[in-house]
Amino acid sequence: MSVTGIEAYLRRAPKVELHVHLEGALRPERLLRILRRHGTHREYQRPEDLAWLYQHDDLAAFLDHFRFAVTQLQDVQDVHDVAHDLFESLASQNVVYAEVLFSAAIFVRQGMAWEELLAAVEEAARAVALEIKIVVDLVRNFGPEFAEQQVETLARLGRESVVGIHLGGDEPGFPASLFTRAYQLAHEARLGLAAHAGEGVGADSVQQALALGVQRIGHGIRCLESESVVEQLLERGTLLEVCPTSNVQTRVVPGLRTHPLSELLRRGIRVALGSDDPSFFGTDITREMQIAHDVLDLHLATLDRMIDDAMQAAFLPEAVRRERLEAMRRERAGLRGELGL
Ligand SMILES: [Zn+2]
Repeated sequence: MSVTGIEAYLRRAPKVELHVHLEGALRPERLLRILRRHGTHREYQRPEDLAWLYQHDDLAAFLDHFRFAVTQLQDVQDVHDVAHDLFESLASQNVVYAEVLFSAAIFVRQGMAWEELLAAVEEAARAVALEIKIVVDLVRNFGPEFAEQQVETLARLGRESVVGIHLGGDEPGFPASLFTRAYQLAHEARLGLAAHAGEGVGADSVQQALALGVQRIGHGIRCLESESVVEQLLERGTLLEVCPTSNVQTRVVPGLRTHPLSELLRRGIRVALGSDDPSFFGTDITREMQIAHDVLDLHLATLDRMIDDAMQAAFLPEAVRRERLEAMRRERAGLRGELGL
């Protein structure tokens, strides 16, 4: 197989993205426009002046940069514009279905209204030809009570665009076990359940996420530190949303070559690739697939299977998932034929 053929295949093949943070798509050029629009931080004039925000020494440094950048968004127009940039990028990569993580709580706490925030993301989604659903990141740092309030609000609003909840932010400071009631409420509201775990903290954190009843885990790579946790993941068929570039940039793993993705797959754990915070980590879903192929030596068939597993784990009704899986398989077969792969 020619290298160019594989590149073309990875660029054009239909994809599913389950782990991408809307706010993580905030590019320096967009941030500058936002700062100008509000007349804030006039010391930043060129994208290069913001380069420091996009280089991280560790997970804590990344979270500081993320917090600084995201709190510059001051109204729903800003949120809409960042969503628009992300959705255009997803569409250009032939992502056919995405569940976008949205930390709406950050903006609600700045005084923006839930309905307006969700409507802004929905409007940005309508402008592109791919289906986008929202998974609300409850943000651990804001504590369990606020998380419960968020779920109650989501249940009351009953927006069709919101299909699930996630739990990101400060993993060591706010363990998953604090959020049992929020997850119970979300389960009762028929929302899909996922949580970040096993990124900044080890297998115990994955265990706590499993106790919340999650169907998917963001990262989860440190599950390998416990045989019993691995067994539970296998038994339940829990999918891990694995984001290799993110893990390297936040120093959760020392380098791409030593990333545990291959080991997770070898153990039979279901995995989907994600870009996490594409602008902050200089990546996207296509690049993550390219890295998995080039650096971790995964075959195209394995990459295809991860996309199928992502679709199977989407927070959509089973009949819709099945239909979409078949459409993706047909498109892929046509593309392989065309490219001679
Ligand atoms: Zn994440």
